[in-house]
Amino acid sequence: MEWRMAPPGMAGAAGTVVAGLLAGGHEAYFVGGCLRDELLGRPVHDIDITTSALPEEVMSLFPRCVPTGLAHGTITVLQEGYSLEVTTYRTESGYADHRRPEHVVFVRDVREDLRRRDFTINAICCGLDGGRIDPFGGERDLKLRVIRCVGEAEERFEEDALRMLRCVRFASVLDFAIAKNTWRGLLRQRDKLAHIAVERVRAEVERILEGPHPQRGLGLLLRSGLLPRGKAPFPWTGRDLAAAAARLAGLGNLESARLRWALLMHALGSSAQCADELLRAWTFPGATRTGVVAVLRVREAWDAALLSARPEASGAGERLRRRWIAAVLGQGQSAAEGWLTVLEAAGADTASPVTTSLLRSWTAEMPIRTLAELAVSGHEVTAALEKRPGPWLGVLLNQLLLAVAAGDLANDNQLLLQAAQRMDRDE
Ligand code: ATP
Ligand code: MG
Repeated sequence: MEWRMAPPGMAGAAGTVVAGLLAGGHEAYFVGGCLRDELLGRPVHDIDITTSALPEEVMSLFPRCVPTGLAHGTITVLQEGYSLEVTTYRTESGYADHRRPEHVVFVRDVREDLRRRDFTINAICCGLDGGRIDPFGGERDLKLRVIRCVGEAEERFEEDALRMLRCVRFASVLDFAIAKNTWRGLLRQRDKLAHIAVERVRAEVERILEGPHPQRGLGLLLRSGLLPRGKAPFPWTGRDLAAAAARLAGLGNLESARLRWALLMHALGSSAQCADELLRAWTFPGATRTGVVAVLRVREAWDAALLSARPEASGAGERLRRRWIAAVLGQGQSAAEGWLTVLEAAGADTASPVTTSLLRSWTAEMPIRTLAELAVSGHEVTAALEKRPGPWLGVLLNQLLLAVAAGDLANDNQLLLQAAQRMDRDE
């Protein structure tokens, strides 16, 4: 087997493991996603191996291995610096809760193992000599660019409801169609998504939104009606989602996951507060959640500024500039720039009196953007004012920061201490 799309070291290590299993008198093949991606010319991230050897036999052949999923027949073999998952041919049955098979039976025929797999394109295996075993027409479906269940779709989705989201994910990421029967089976079983853990659903939806064709994925999610049937809160109607999806033209151009989620939440009309609660309920990692929420807070600060702008009054532009600078300081430069990128991707509101490029130049002209850059410390301020530190200190330092950032005051230690005394007196 000649790998074109796998890192050479990984391909070499996987070849060594397969050769070792064969030398031990067993059958062994490369299987699943790695073949799908190799045949599609997409990067191969890991190479899985399927074998007739029982888990104990695998462990006896390879000194360095971890019994990752022993009960299900999966051993991770550590080879030449790579971890390779080696799984004994098996079938599954008696799925509890529409997710986990209760019975795993090791079998002797690789075709039996391929039959338990979800989609035809994931049910291909290949020997060391490059000979492929493809009983369900996976290669044909790769050429046709279609996702098709192995066997009866409705049954397969009922056994394991997560497969429905995997179906949408593969169709979205690969930009494939979904076979008619597969789609029909999915629609019939969609209520079963209620059995799937929120984090599993979230992980699939993340891969859809963060993949190369997020809009296609959103369209499929919408038409499938899956998400409102999951365990996680989904406070929108299909119409909300359809309207949002239609406005997300620039979504796929956004590099960062944080901005894609921010744009989606923006298009759905979620407040920062609502997005915060939702992303928490959806089990997003804290860093992603706070990143998205900060971007939406910049939007709220800026919307409030625009609302109170009174463009006819004198000094309106300058007041807006200060409000923008305050928002940059409040949420951080990265959130502020993120918001501008989101706004542009959403097709910025042409009616706004201030363009995103003007906002960008206001940010760029700020001499400093964080308290850490201020040429005075809290300690120096308390000493100069002969006061005990308290909440007033943070307020004062932020006033100084705003004054410097807006260009009213030079970032100079002595000048800042004088200004602090003035501000304290005026207080
Ligand atoms: P990727 O790693 O890009 O998500 P993959 O196809 O490798 O794609 P994995 O979750 O790593 O997906 O699973 C490896 C293989 O195991 C799949 O190719 C498929 O054959 C099988 N498989 C995974 N999940 C399921 C499932 N829920 N039902 C049936 N077979 C599955
Ligand atoms: Mg994989």
